[in-house]
Amino acid sequence: MASFASISKNNSSTVPTGGGGGGGAAAITTTTTITATTTAAAAASEGGDNWKADLKAPTKDTRIQTRDVTATKGTEFEDYGLKRELLMGIFEKGFEKPSPIQEEAIPKLLLGNNVLARAKNGTGKTAAFIIPVLDKVDVAKQYIQAVILIPTRELALQTSAIVKELGKHIKIEVVATTGGTNLRDDILRLMSPVHVIVGTPGRIDDLAGKNAADLSKVQILIMDEADKLLSPEFLPVVESLVNRCAPTRQLGLFSATYPNAVKAFKEQFMPDCTIINLMEELTLLGITQYYAFVEEKKKVACLHTLFSRLEINQSIIFCQTVSRVELLAKKITDLGYSCFYIHAKMTQQDRNRVFHEFRNGATRHLVTSDLVARGIDIQSVNVVINFDFPKTPETYLHRIGRSGRFGHLGLAVNLITYEDRHNLYTIETALGTEIQPIPATIDRAKYCT
Ligand code: AMP
Repeated sequence: MASFASISKNNSSTVPTGGGGGGGAAAITTTTTITATTTAAAAASEGGDNWKADLKAPTKDTRIQTRDVTATKGTEFEDYGLKRELLMGIFEKGFEKPSPIQEEAIPKLLLGNNVLARAKNGTGKTAAFIIPVLDKVDVAKQYIQAVILIPTRELALQTSAIVKELGKHIKIEVVATTGGTNLRDDILRLMSPVHVIVGTPGRIDDLAGKNAADLSKVQILIMDEADKLLSPEFLPVVESLVNRCAPTRQLGLFSATYPNAVKAFKEQFMPDCTIINLMEELTLLGITQYYAFVEEKKKVACLHTLFSRLEINQSIIFCQTVSRVELLAKKITDLGYSCFYIHAKMTQQDRNRVFHEFRNGATRHLVTSDLVARGIDIQSVNVVINFDFPKTPETYLHRIGRSGRFGHLGLAVNLITYEDRHNLYTIETALGTEIQPIPATIDRAKYCT
């Protein structure tokens, strides 16, 4: 198998990250690293009035946003009675106002309700559950109080990093634990007090089974990408984990897609739940979707044309199988473009490295399987290419949602072969969307602002 290093030979041109679209470096705004000021922390703990003025918020993102995130009721984070130290973390992350899913879910979870929430990709679901979790955790109590279940390792690491960021002024102890890493390290870490565990279900269940993680006092259990967690692949382990938590535990299920499988779980474990559905229309308003009808053997040439014509800040290119991921990454590199690849058969160490480097802008293109189709949030990705068209509407929605994060603009290009034509129709019908044929020129204003 070609190694990560061998495929990334042409990665010298780094990509500016942080802001959104725009092909050239000049068009991209860089997100400022946020550091807490001691003055702010001191002001907060003393209950000083000046705490907000002293916070170091990142540079304001001035890109266009769609009503997927702007159509709110007008509430403020301060309306929810959150801990001051948590508000500090929220504002220092650059969140000025709650998004629609945050407006709906945060108060319900704070009230102790079970919640089943459906909202579009990239509209702020993660903070919608992290904020109530952080508010509920009592750091004076030295045991595990909250569990956040995530189906994939990369997403678990991303989510735990956000828990730490939002909770940086609360002295919260968070452990991220996923398969593919040393179990012993996690056991040792759990010997010190931990308040929140974020991880993949199998590993957390393993730790609980070995008495390394005591979940019996867990009061809130969150499932992100809940439909995936309740699929047959994960369901037995997830049920076991729910049963390990305190009988009074509260459940929060979040996803953009909810097939029928979720219903049975809901009836059994949370019949009284509050349902939030912000998916009246299914696709993201900011993402322009096109298809190019192409023969299989001409796909690489078509991709080459796209690379030369589009203003790609960063792109994610999806293939159907691991071998096609590797092959395509090699072809792209041979064409002279900088490119990494990632898939589930790589070692976790290589996966983490590729992911970290792509996020930091070390390369412009990432070729992948559906491993990064869900949840992954890289604001500088403005183009998603389905080199192989997906088989289901759910996968399609998750994949194209890797661009157009938080109401920003993005482009999705689908390479469609003769065999894909029925699938294209099925997905368009299921999502109530018409995917247009790709025009000769694409207005950069559709995905670069
Ligand atoms: P998510 O849907 O949770 O993956 O979030 C998508 C992106 O929106 C992430 O980059 C978040 O940091 C960002 N985000 C979430 N909530 C807010 C907010 N209230 N204001 C601004 N950005 C946000």
